[in-house]
Amino acid sequence: MNAVTTERYDSAIASAGLKPRFVRELRPRFDVVTDWEDREFLPITDRSGNQGVLWVEHDERVYLLPYTLSRGIIDKASGRARPVICDLCFTQQLGTAAARIGFAMPGRVGASRSLLCCADLDCNEHVRGQTRASLRSKTQLRESISVPDRILRLHRRLGELLELLDAKPVS
Ligand SMILES: [Zn+2]
Repeated sequence: MNAVTTERYDSAIASAGLKPRFVRELRPRFDVVTDWEDREFLPITDRSGNQGVLWVEHDERVYLLPYTLSRGIIDKASGRARPVICDLCFTQQLGTAAARIGFAMPGRVGASRSLLCCADLDCNEHVRGQTRASLRSKTQLRESISVPDRILRLHRRLGELLELLDAKPVS
């Protein structure tokens, strides 16, 4: 994706229809990001990290998806955190490192979806095999798919999500 600058951020936020109070809570830290070329999305969170917007760049359009994150997937029957596979990057995560992410498009009834995901939202790094979680997952799932194909799969999954949410590009 292209680097997010303060200018781009301000103009995207202005046209995303988000509540001012929600926006005020966000703590954009894109000035410390250096791996733009290796990203399909960037999470911009509030102080707690439990809510934010996903800045998604897809086919050269920008989408802002507001989300909330609840960490830890507990199996109701056993009361234990169980391993889950991220719906975005297909990395298997231990339940303690997994989360449920809920998207709801502002002002649009029914435009909401909930997915299982990596609690760290480092899916960009996971698909590129740059994390321990991704290496462990690859062994666990016996996946032989290449890094470029993983990236493509993440790209495709994001495209499906945008479609399900009927998301409109902000630029
Ligand atoms: Zn993931």
